[in-house]
Parts: sequence; structure tokens; C-alpha cells
Amino acid sequence: MKAIRGATTVENDTEKEIDSAVKQLLYNIENVNKLNREDIICILFSNTTDLKSCYPAKAARKAGFISCALYSSAEPEISGALPKCIRVMVLADIKSAPRHVYLNEAANLRKDLTKKFNIAVDGPAGSGKSTISKIVSEKLNILYLDTGAMYRACALACLKKGIDCADGAAVKTALEKCKITVEYENGAQKTMVDGKDVSDEIRTPEVSMAASAVSSHEWVRKTMVELQRKIAAGRSCILDGRDVGTNVLPDAEYKFFLTASPEERSRRRLKENEAKGYAQTFEEVLAEITERDENDSNRKFAPLIKAADAVEVVTDGMTVEEVVNYIIDKLQGTI
Ligand code: C5P
Repeated sequence: MKAIRGATTVENDTEKEIDSAVKQLLYNIENVNKLNREDIICILFSNTTDLKSCYPAKAARKAGFISCALYSSAEPEISGALPKCIRVMVLADIKSAPRHVYLNEAANLRKDLTKKFNIAVDGPAGSGKSTISKIVSEKLNILYLDTGAMYRACALACLKKGIDCADGAAVKTALEKCKITVEYENGAQKTMVDGKDVSDEIRTPEVSMAASAVSSHEWVRKTMVELQRKIAAGRSCILDGRDVGTNVLPDAEYKFFLTASPEERSRRRLKENEAKGYAQTFEEVLAEITERDENDSNRKFAPLIKAADAVEVVTDGMTVEEVVNYIIDKLQGTI
């Protein structure tokens, strides 16, 4: 039997937040320890006395932990203690070394037990990077940054000003006058141009092509990469793009390169675009994907190439779930 420790914090003392924090903490503990629920013998919680709206044990039961014994207690009030904190000890029948999980503000409690790590996911258009990276980020409770969205925002800003995206000097002049930023709302990325959320507007086929042109300019890449590194600094995160493993975060602990045949990627993109209401034929999407592959792979600055230390995943014929499980399996070997 092993003891797995963990802790998390909530912002507000509400039943809803405690339910959600306990669920996230226990799911993370299960995930990183590859625990079967039947292997859990009991779960012991303690919480700071500023949490009064719900017992963590009750939240655990609601989250589906029903076959093990659950217990909650309040901690003594200690001045200077981390507020609104829930601690847990999970006793489980496992052979491997326990992996402890400290989330939210509680991550500061045990820096020795919570290793920061970065995951880089690169690959061509339609390889499934964004879908996969988003799910992995949710499973691991880490930040997800879609770097392509930032180049798309640059492209949209240029298109709106009537700038030729192939003209590097004109693109620079136009972009120097606007503010491309990224914000997060409930963990979801919002890509902004001059304070306006453009997350949906940047998904059109026109913006896709313009982004490919805009992103080839050195000034644009330098500016965006600087912003990407700032967002990623000091935290565990997963970034997807074309040059994350080679250029943005060359020291990322985990690197994946997702690919699929142009036909498979075009089929996926066509389906996505149809759902969004863009009328395109398969041939048009294939031509667009081929042109973007060509631009992205042959540009001078930070082209699309697999980092030497990246794990290549050829996703033809794989479901989203299969790719996610493959990546999580690779990560769990070491996180
Ligand atoms: O990934 P997505 O299709 O949203 O990216 C749009 C375009 O932005 C790509 O075709 C590519 O030219 C560019 N891009 C890039 N480097 C990144 C991410 C995207 O050059 N890290």
C-alpha cells in the first residue's frame, strides 16, 4: 500500500467550487498514478477552517469515489497558513512510487513534489494538435496555449487594414500599431486584437492562408515568440504550433510531433469547416493544406520541422482518444 499526498485551493468558499476542486484533485491523482478506482482503500481529507460550505469527503463521494472509505477533518487555525486549502491523503494498493499532486495555490506548498514541465506539440495543419493539446491540458490541469491563434490574430488585423500579408514591411508597420494579447477565461484561451476577442473570427479559411503568409516574417515571429515565452514562463503548460519544440521552448521536457497524410488532414479540416458553415470542396481544402505545408516548411525563420528529440505520432486512422491516451501514457512514464 502507498500513501499519495495532494492539496489544492479554492478561491471562494462555495459548495460548487469545493466540489469541482476535490474532483479535479482526485482525478489528477488517479491519472498521474494510473490508479484503478478499486485500488483506492481510503481517502483522508483535511481543510482549513475558512472552508465551511461543504465537506471535501462529501464532494469526493459526489465525484464518484463511492467504494472506498472517506474521511474529512478540519485543521487547527495556524496564522500565516495558506487560506482555503484542502489537503488529501489517498491510501492505495499500488506497487509504483506514489506521485503527489499539488494544484492551484497549493503548488507552492511542496515545490519539491510538484515539478514544472512543458510539453511542445508541433505538426502541420490538420494534424489534430489543437484538439489533442486542449484535452491533454484539461487532463493534467495545465495551461494550454494555441500559438497558431496568435499568428491568425496578426493575419486578421492585417486583413482588416487591407495590408498585403506577403509584404513584411507593411505587416510590421500595421502590427506595431495594434495589440495582440491572450487571455484566459475558465482555462479557455481568448485571443484578442486591441482588446476585442477574435477567437472565432480567426478560424476562417481566408485567415488560415493569411496567417501562413504573415508568420513567415522574422519580426512577426520574434514578437509572437517573445509573447509565447512570457505566457509559458514559470508554469507547467502545453503549447502547440510549428516551432514550439525547436524554437519557442527548445528545453521543453516533452515534445511531440503530430502528423497525418495530407488527405486525412484535409478530411478532418473539411469536416470542421463544414460544421462552421464554410462551403469548401475536399479539393479546395487539400490545395490549401498543401500550400500551407509548403509555406510553413520552407520559410526561412523557424520553419516547421520535427525537433530531433520529439516523439513522432502518425495519427492516420487514430481516434482523438487514442492519440490523447498515447501522449498521456508517454508522459506518465516520467511525470
Ligand atoms: O495551427 P494553425 O493552423 O492555427 O496556424 C495558423 C498558421 O500560423 C500556420 O499555417 C503557420 O503558418 C502559422 N504558425 C506558425 N508557427 C506556430 C503556429 C502557427 O508559423 N508556432
